Amino acid sequence: MSAERHYLDSVRREASRSLRSNGGILSPSWARYLDAIRHGLLMIDDAGRAIVSNAPAARLLADFLPKSASEPSARGLLRALCAGTAKPRRAVFRSLREARDLRTAVSFEVEAKGLTLQVELNPAEEQGWIATLEDVSARKASEARADEAARQDPLTGLPNRLLLQERLLEAFVRLHRNGEKCALLLVDLDRFKPVNDTLGHPVGDALLKKVADRLRSTVRPTDTVARIGGDEFVILQTGVREASDTQALARRLVDLIGRTYMVDGHLLTIGASVGVALAPSDGDSAETLLKNADLALYRAKLDGRGTYRFFEPEMDARMQARRRLELDMRQALARREFQLHYQPQMQLDGDRLIGCEALIRWHHPERGTISPLDFIPLAEEIGLIVPIGDWVIRQACRDAMTWPAHMSVAVNVSPAQFKSDRLVETIMSALAGSGLPARRLEVEITEGVLLQENEKTLRTLHRLRELGVRVSMDDFGTGYSSLSYLRSFPFDKIKIDRSFVKDLSGRPDGDAIIRAIAGLGRSLGMTTVAEGVETPEQMQRIREEGCTDVQGYLISRPIPADDLISFLASYKAEA
Ligand code: C2E
Ligand code: MG
Ligand code: MG
Repeated sequence: MSAERHYLDSVRREASRSLRSNGGILSPSWARYLDAIRHGLLMIDDAGRAIVSNAPAARLLADFLPKSASEPSARGLLRALCAGTAKPRRAVFRSLREARDLRTAVSFEVEAKGLTLQVELNPAEEQGWIATLEDVSARKASEARADEAARQDPLTGLPNRLLLQERLLEAFVRLHRNGEKCALLLVDLDRFKPVNDTLGHPVGDALLKKVADRLRSTVRPTDTVARIGGDEFVILQTGVREASDTQALARRLVDLIGRTYMVDGHLLTIGASVGVALAPSDGDSAETLLKNADLALYRAKLDGRGTYRFFEPEMDARMQARRRLELDMRQALARREFQLHYQPQMQLDGDRLIGCEALIRWHHPERGTISPLDFIPLAEEIGLIVPIGDWVIRQACRDAMTWPAHMSVAVNVSPAQFKSDRLVETIMSALAGSGLPARRLEVEITEGVLLQENEKTLRTLHRLRELGVRVSMDDFGTGYSSLSYLRSFPFDKIKIDRSFVKDLSGRPDGDAIIRAIAGLGRSLGMTTVAEGVETPEQMQRIREEGCTDVQGYLISRPIPADDLISFLASYKAEA
């Protein structure tokens, strides 16, 4: 463009010179020359007459001013300028006067009939103006397309985060100007990842498009539906009169997204968790509103997903408490605030103690002892379970070395530890560092471990098995498909969840379930441990039903490592 501009300038100069030397008449060769230029060129004298013009100028002005004379005129150009720019007539003339005084160029964009004409007016050397005209419609259109693409999610065609942000700012302008309320609904798909992981990305993509269609269909044209992440959508609801407007929409969203989808011959069911924040009550800036909708979404997920939650101020307080706990936990390892307690396990054949389960305790300097049930889930969520779990494994191996040689130690291993890739290395180095034989170490996993990345998890389990480490299925019977998991890996041990032991002799089906699991273990060659045995009656029933081992308060509560040796000695003496 700049080379072209340069060229035009020199043409203008030469044309003026030719005019001057020819008594105001352009020579035919000059006229042909000017016609060959792509841009429209118009030379205007101070009286406003067009003294020179080329063919493109005539064509462009005719396009923009259909009723004007076929002969391009300075007045026609001015009329086009005044009609086609956003500026008022007075402003057009003012900028022309200023340009004249400063001897600088002035340029306008003139719009008419969907076309855009770029007009540049240069004060000529002695008098009048030289105007260049260029049809920039195509460039404008492609800029507009690029602009739109930058604001659109390519997969679903929905607005993206950028456009959402702009719409949100506009909504706040309206809120502050005329009190128009709005609401932000953050939508997170439940169980989308397994679909993507097991059926592949094309199916995942197709599903997302269907979700987008459903979302689009359920809002008004004035609302905005945006996609801001893999399976995260946002709805900006405008013109909200009362909270019930938004509640109705939230309910509709959860219902609509939860209905079955048919994708590529697969029947798929996912769900939606929705967090809602209203403006101005839950935030009078885009930033606060987003943050609070996010807190509400977090709550919706904690409350079991497939539901919506409106923001409440105490969610913020709870989140802050959680953050404090998180900060404390990050320091707890270095401050040596964790401790392992051990709960003995007894073999029913011979009533011998054959091992202990390591159970972590956190001694918080201010809050006292915190149960693992209160901090392990958070540690898993923020990934801190990996270093904590590493410590547990190493400490448990070291402690077990001080026990009688026939006793094993069991550690609980979280799904996140399986994800982290270094579990096998950690275990190998813990065994090597402590000198504990691999067969004395047991890892306890729950169904959660097998729910994720099944192939990789199974490979890790087999590698542990090759080392000689034993693997137990913990909390058996509480998950969704415990039985199918038993088939996927040859566990050494099944730990029957204590909820079934509690039901023993209270409800007949409790007995039946324990009997069935004990039988299953026998035929699969797996040890069966009943967890949570608290009374002699339960112990009796467990024996009768055929379990091989027990663990529970009746034998001992979990006890600190230092007290374990003396417990073992006194237990032996009693026996
Ligand atoms: P779990 O692995 O099923 O551990 C057994 C839980 O049952 C322990 O709770 C234990 O104290 C309790 N228990 C044992 N016998 C009885 C009984 O007779 N009656 C009753 N009412 N309870 C009994 P605890 O120590 O609070 O641990 C809770 C859960 O926290 C564990 O369940 C385990 O899932 C997790 N956990 C504990 N330590 C660790 C750890 O180091 N790493 C990981 N990832 N998770 C851990
Ligand atoms: Mg356990
Ligand atoms: Mg358990």
